[in-house]
Amino acid sequence: MGAFPEDRPGRFHVDHRCIGCCICSAISPRNFRSDHERGLDYVYKQPVGPEEERLCAEAMDICPVDAIHRCA
Ligand code: SF4
Repeated sequence: MGAFPEDRPGRFHVDHRCIGCCICSAISPRNFRSDHERGLDYVYKQPVGPEEERLCAEAMDICPVDAIHRCA
């Protein structure tokens, strides 16, 4: 279960289970982006500050296939 190479290095990453539903990029557009050709989203920018951190955590909780992960 590795991170997509598109992911920016850091605590949050998206794994191969992503189905490209675009929920995470809708919740936190500063941090997630959609690759429509490949049908997946990826971490465009790691969160900076409590608000982006909160939105990334919300996206992680809502992801329907548990494809978003946060390292400690
Ligand atoms: S919410 Fe989950 S399944 Fe949907 S695009 Fe984001 S990582 Fe992929």
